[in-house]
Amino acid sequence: MASIKPSAHLNEVRYEIRGALTRRARELEAAGLPIIKLNIGNPARYGFTVPEHLRQAIAAHLHESEAYGHEQGLEEAREAIAAQQRARGARQVEVERIFIGNGVSELIDLSLRALLQPGDEVLLPSPDYPLWSAATILNGGVPRYYRCLAENRHLPDPEEIEALVTPRTRALVLINPNNPTGAVYPRALLEQIVAIAARHRLLLLCDEIYDEILYDGTHFQPVAQVAGNTPCISFGGLSKVHRACGYRVGWLSLSGDVASTREYRDALQLLAALRLCANVTAQWAVIPALQDTPTIGALTAPGGRLHEARKAVLEGVAASDYLDLVTPGGALYAFPRVRTDRIANFNDDTFALRLLEEESVLVVPGSSFNVPTSRHVRLTLLPQPAQLRDVFVRIERVLERMAAE
Ligand code: PLP
Repeated sequence: MASIKPSAHLNEVRYEIRGALTRRARELEAAGLPIIKLNIGNPARYGFTVPEHLRQAIAAHLHESEAYGHEQGLEEAREAIAAQQRARGARQVEVERIFIGNGVSELIDLSLRALLQPGDEVLLPSPDYPLWSAATILNGGVPRYYRCLAENRHLPDPEEIEALVTPRTRALVLINPNNPTGAVYPRALLEQIVAIAARHRLLLLCDEIYDEILYDGTHFQPVAQVAGNTPCISFGGLSKVHRACGYRVGWLSLSGDVASTREYRDALQLLAALRLCANVTAQWAVIPALQDTPTIGALTAPGGRLHEARKAVLEGVAASDYLDLVTPGGALYAFPRVRTDRIANFNDDTFALRLLEEESVLVVPGSSFNVPTSRHVRLTLLPQPAQLRDVFVRIERVLERMAAE
């Protein structure tokens, strides 16, 4: 029988966080080998729990969750999101400019689908969270990457961003705090970037899903506040800060000039209506999540589990003969790099495969995040600190063998 060919659009699309290595890890597990999985930022898999008052809000409203809801999301939940955004200094945020989706993932796709004509360009960070590249390509766009190199503490260079702008550029994506690097962008840098967006009439797309996961008192600056009247979309959700990945709830908030974004907002609404609505049940958790005291701070403060996990990673890197790392200021990952002076012809894909096969540890090769180099790997900070210390012993053993070959 003739094979059923998938769409050619997919040829350029990769998502290695759940790719071939993960499938190999599943095979090894099925054969009875326990695998230490550091590939996905999925808090509940590592024993983190959703705050009890979020669960109770869902239980209390279960009986009100049986019908399709508004295509943009529950009015009460959108009120809570709009209030959060206004408190952060975002301008012109009203419930009709808020959209709730089945995770930020769905809304990344929706926001680009509503925007792009074939051949339009989108400025993306390199490394990026790879859904941004995939959604750009699948919606007919062309990714143009601005580098966030370890040499520059994984911060973007505004001059490089501006040099990439062409008449086809439509949007500028910021991931802050950043996945995979953990970089948190200072206000002065964001001011320069916002000015570029304003000069060239680019829509700012700001993935802020890690907005409250911050270490060492690092300050998070919402872009919408800096952007003022410049059109800006801020993305947030329940998956990370509230540890509820499985609820599949994310939101976007459109801020800035109303008149010039009206048509675009209507396009978002049409696309939202085409998929009817997001999961209604889980949206009830948004209200307590945003109105009550956040609970993530206890985990990232000294003595908290995420703080101690990050410490274990920093110590593992410091003790290594091969690695360096820009200390992550936020989010749930570390993005260490193998030093050129120690293993000259290092390849991250080979390393990640060997780490899995030889030491039963699953990480994501850095090149999966659309970077030009292949010297990084990403690992999540979610495991217990003791397990992360053990992981660094295993990483070192593989690197020693690679260096000796
Ligand atoms: N954006 C970034 C930067 C992420 O890291 C993730 C998930 O890891 C997402 C978006 C998707 O989040 P959600 O669970 O809300 O779909």
